[in-house]
Amino acid sequence: MDVSLSDAQAAVVEDAQSVAAQIIGPAALARHKDGEFPLETLQALAGRGLMGVNIDASLGGRDAGVVAYSMAITEVACADPAVAVTMAVNNMVGEVIYAFGSQKQRQELIPALTSGRFSSGSFCLSEPGSGSDAAGMRTRARATDEGWILDGTKAWITSGAHAGVFLVWAKTDEREISLFAVDPELPGIEVGGAEEKMGQHASNTVALSFDGVKLPAEAMVGEPGQGFRIAMMALDGGRIGIASQSLGIADAALQLADLQQLTTGLHRSLFESLRARVEAARSITWRAAWLKEQGDRPFSQEASMAKLSASEAAHAVADALFRYWPTPMSDDDQRRLSMAEKLLRDVRVTRIYEGTSEIQRLVIARNLLRR
Ligand SMILES: Cc1cc2nc3c(=O)[nH]c(=O)nc-3n(C[C@H](O)[C@H](O)[C@H](O)COP(=O)(O)OP(=O)(O)OC[C@H]3O[C@@H](n4cnc5c(N)ncnc54)[C@H](O)[C@@H]3O)c2cc1C
Repeated sequence: MDVSLSDAQAAVVEDAQSVAAQIIGPAALARHKDGEFPLETLQALAGRGLMGVNIDASLGGRDAGVVAYSMAITEVACADPAVAVTMAVNNMVGEVIYAFGSQKQRQELIPALTSGRFSSGSFCLSEPGSGSDAAGMRTRARATDEGWILDGTKAWITSGAHAGVFLVWAKTDEREISLFAVDPELPGIEVGGAEEKMGQHASNTVALSFDGVKLPAEAMVGEPGQGFRIAMMALDGGRIGIASQSLGIADAALQLADLQQLTTGLHRSLFESLRARVEAARSITWRAAWLKEQGDRPFSQEASMAKLSASEAAHAVADALFRYWPTPMSDDDQRRLSMAEKLLRDVRVTRIYEGTSEIQRLVIARNLLRR
């Protein structure tokens, strides 16, 4: 694996750093308090091609590959994890359409996702009764002469109240799952209220219900029955995104630990061992990203290892930072303590979405046994 950056990759990282430093970071605490969806920030990311880092330039993407994508997400997450997850889901939705969509879907939807014309896309797999067990979904799409009728409910959908396109998984018969690109404006779609979460407040999370929603035949993405395979492939890539987001949270927490002199004082050895854990997680995350970038190499195992190790390490750092926070405090320290609290709140869900830590352990164990 070669981790020396090409000029194009380095330019992506520099752009992400610049948006993070100038636009995202300064407003992160305010956004955490008011929970406002970061519309203008997402437009700024789109303006630099960061809403489609691994997508062809002819469709408005940056065409810079998965390693650059991973590093860009880490930079953004270090400034605000809530913005990073919104960016990650948008990139993921664009990549699914890019890989499996028809020519028409690619031409119509991807430029809207990469340019910021759509504030974001949504990935609608989970349901109130099926999260880890995605195959247990109850949403159905019934074939008609004109196309499909969609009925069901999706839960915990990131950016659901703001998305320009929903990718919706539904059963098209008892055993078959298919994927549809759904226009959020269609009659019969209801968007629930924003979930009140413990962290990542500025990322929007809602339930969606579909009641007799008429879809044209060409709304299907990929082939009938291909949906489950597409979802699993997308989640493998998505796990690299969440691992990268977790690294950003860990970096932010370690920076605060440095500023509060936790890394030179009494707790030095603890923080040094945590730093080593974060760097190990970064290595496997970059390796997973590099493998995916090769195009013909399996990376599912590495993506699960990356997500598991990075999210667990980030949690350990954020937790230790908060636990060993020094007193007494100046005004600067008080602001940093609010950041530390935000990180501890923001990090929790990295061990849940795109497959919980328990599910990553299952994937890793199954792959090891298969080998
Ligand atoms: C803020 C947020 C945003 C999200 N965004 C999206 C989104 O954009 N799109 C989307 O589709 N989904 C999204 N999700 C849903 C997320 O992917 C699921 O919450 C996650 O997959 C877990 O599913 P669940 O909540 O149904 O928990 P369950 O699957 O019911 O799991 C509950 C517990 O049981 C454990 N468990 C389950 N099965 C096993 C097993 N076989 N072995 C061992 N332990 C097991 C789990 O690890 C967990 O601890 C989001 C969730 C959150 C909280």
